Amino acid sequence: MNIHIDGARPQDDAERGILAFIEESIAIRRDLHRHPELSLKEKRTAALIARYLLSFGYEVTEGVGGHGVVATLKRGHGEKRLGIRADIDALPITEETGLAYASDTPGVMHACGHDGHTTILLAAARYLAETSSFSGTLTLIFQPAEEIGAGARAMIKDRLFERFPVDAVFGLHNWPGVEAGQFGFVEGPAMASVDKAKVRIVGRGGHGAAPHETVDPVLASASFVTALQSIVSRNVDPREMAVLTVGSIHGGTASNVIPESVELQITARAFSPVVRDRLEERLPALAKAQAESFGAKAEVAYARGFPPVINHAVQTAFAQDVARRHFPPGQIAESFQPRTASEDFAFMLQERPGSYLFVGNGDSAPLHSPHYDFNDTIIAPAARFWVRLAEDYLS
Ligand SMILES: [Zn+2]
Ligand SMILES: [Zn+2]
Repeated sequence: MNIHIDGARPQDDAERGILAFIEESIAIRRDLHRHPELSLKEKRTAALIARYLLSFGYEVTEGVGGHGVVATLKRGHGEKRLGIRADIDALPITEETGLAYASDTPGVMHACGHDGHTTILLAAARYLAETSSFSGTLTLIFQPAEEIGAGARAMIKDRLFERFPVDAVFGLHNWPGVEAGQFGFVEGPAMASVDKAKVRIVGRGGHGAAPHETVDPVLASASFVTALQSIVSRNVDPREMAVLTVGSIHGGTASNVIPESVELQITARAFSPVVRDRLEERLPALAKAQAESFGAKAEVAYARGFPPVINHAVQTAFAQDVARRHFPPGQIAESFQPRTASEDFAFMLQERPGSYLFVGNGDSAPLHSPHYDFNDTIIAPAARFWVRLAEDYLS
């Protein structure tokens, strides 16, 4: 295997230690990539993770909230308890990378880099076990079912933080388009909430040549889609972020038939709980009023998904300080902006203080693209970041 790590000179002992087994780490990452498993089906992945952690000397608990794996390692007399989380599941996407280690499971792909997040944490786990250079309790959380927003909740419901108490919890996500190995920190809202609305506009169908004898749900839908953006521009404080996207609209079967109904699927995103509530209040009201103005009716099903990821100030400052102490300034993004994607790590941050950070994946295809691949050159710097964070926190 030919691996070229940019700036090949190790920066310190941790990097040297992690690079000593980097080929094994890359082999793990590519094995995970080749064998992706969908949310709630991460059986092989979880077994592989547990096997490695046991071989490193961790106490390992499997089956936490589904296929979740939790590993703990106690060293010294320190009383502090640190949690680090990685997500492990893949997506229902058909891979089109043409890579030698591309998915061998049709229609399933690691298109979000969770194969990389898992490998990064395993590499840090190995180094930290080998060096034992901390004092306290280290808890590593390998979370399933992130992509469907179920895994964090399931682990918490399975009493994750009661069984494995932590004082703070951290996690990271790779980010395409950000320089490979560069770290990004955001205090406060870092990723958006995501909620879903299904709207059905019901009219009265009939012949396309006699519209006056019908109630046209297509026209009512078109008006609603246009009016929808007035929520963002007129009901939300202009200093706040809100996104409403109609991702799906379906109605009718032929050019000369006015259909009975049209169905729309909408994603609603926000950084603040107040804006989130406002979208939930205004969207159904607007759908109903718009439909009624055409003589039609609107049925709205609004479902809450994930809350926003809200990073705690103290823990975010701590993580940023770790990066400043152990990495050159160029490897820390200057003013990293919050992202409008979402993450179910949000649920963990509602339970324990912590921070979710970002690491650049370089010039790759975007997340959830069939052309995306995790960048193996960021395993070493990201694993070294977890190592230094654990050592500094548990010191
Ligand atoms: Zn994803
Ligand atoms: Zn992801």
